Amino acid sequence: MKIFKFGGASVKDAEGVKNVAKILAGCSDDKLLVVISAMGKSTNHLEKIVHACTHQTGETSSFIKELKDFHHAIVNGLGTANTAVMLNDIENLFLELECLVETPVNPDEYDFLYDQVVAFGELLSTKIVSHYLLNEGFKNQWIDSRNFIITDDRYRDARIQWSETEKIITKKLKPLAEKQTVITQGFIGRGPVNETTTLGREGSDYSAAIFAYCLNADSVTIWKDVAGVMNADPKKLSNATLIPQLGYSDAIELAYYGASVIHPKTIQPLMAKDIPLFVKSFINPNQDGTKVSNQSEALNVPCFIFKDNQVLTELKTRDFTFIVEQNLEHIFRLLAKHKVRCNIIQNSAISFSFVADNKENRMQSLIAELANLGLSSHTTDSLELITIYNATDDSKNSVLKQSNVLLQQNNGNTSHYLIRP
Ligand code: ASP
Ligand code: MG
Repeated sequence: MKIFKFGGASVKDAEGVKNVAKILAGCSDDKLLVVISAMGKSTNHLEKIVHACTHQTGETSSFIKELKDFHHAIVNGLGTANTAVMLNDIENLFLELECLVETPVNPDEYDFLYDQVVAFGELLSTKIVSHYLLNEGFKNQWIDSRNFIITDDRYRDARIQWSETEKIITKKLKPLAEKQTVITQGFIGRGPVNETTTLGREGSDYSAAIFAYCLNADSVTIWKDVAGVMNADPKKLSNATLIPQLGYSDAIELAYYGASVIHPKTIQPLMAKDIPLFVKSFINPNQDGTKVSNQSEALNVPCFIFKDNQVLTELKTRDFTFIVEQNLEHIFRLLAKHKVRCNIIQNSAISFSFVADNKENRMQSLIAELANLGLSSHTTDSLELITIYNATDDSKNSVLKQSNVLLQQNNGNTSHYLIRP
């Protein structure tokens, strides 16, 4: 069995959906389980709905209408004989969404509401694609992945309950997937109180890997709008090249440092069962793309990863005493509490500095609590972090030469540069 995953960009309009159907038709001899993301930028749009709803900005209904118009336009663009069936399913999903945002929410329940709301992106996209395929004569079964991906209740970053997930997939999904193509959602799961959970932004790759692991699949293919895994984002470096083969551990490191082509959690389940991962272009499906497996040759190019919206925070004790273990213990506890992930950490006798993604308002609340501990802080935002994995002298010089480097760190074959763009 093969697992395919199509991201939002592959189904951003009616042409995209038709293209996905064409790729699937070319693989009709294979047993397939197909994971599909929310269409285009729907997840971002749903995030705006959650924000509007929790902050009572008065925009909730107009945002919902925009999302509905977007999906209607895709359905109309497909122009199939079963349009009425598609529209009916969409209508039902929107009704559910509208009812959900009707009830006033407590700000503490933001993460919970977020998961209930953003899941609609994947539900809508999979319904549309499944109906479109049926109309084209491609037999398939739509399933709700929340019945199979069982998680804890860490909303927005749920952890998989592996044994329950594996058990239910083996018992209920495997027999179905043996018989016909299955179309399902990425990114969403079900928590202990039967509510929807999500696996973190861009989590559909991870869903594909979970299904692959539990179904003992032969391979996973992630279909992207790029040729495969490149050694840099081609929008940032015009001479970026394709990496035809990559080892699992290199792929894990690249994803960890922020190479957005693969979700960081995707590789481990595949590596555990030695399931190869292909990253291919949905625009040129006949090209080979990248194969991630345990049989790859050593990586022979430096890889550049660019992360923007970084914030540098420097902490000092107010009485200029040393930053000692006890301060560090408090600092790390608060970082974990506020879910701030450090991309770089540096400490000296009297200061502790860290670079983190500047997400939502997590930094403000973190800084406020750090101040209570007697630590003064100085932050600089809007910075960019350039990481070079498998760094060479030339690649390092290329960054140092042209950038305003505020801080750098070298760990083995990896170099980080924090720059002011
Ligand atoms: N739709 C979700 C997102 O945009 C999950 C995914 O696409 O992987 O983050
Ligand atoms: Mg996406």
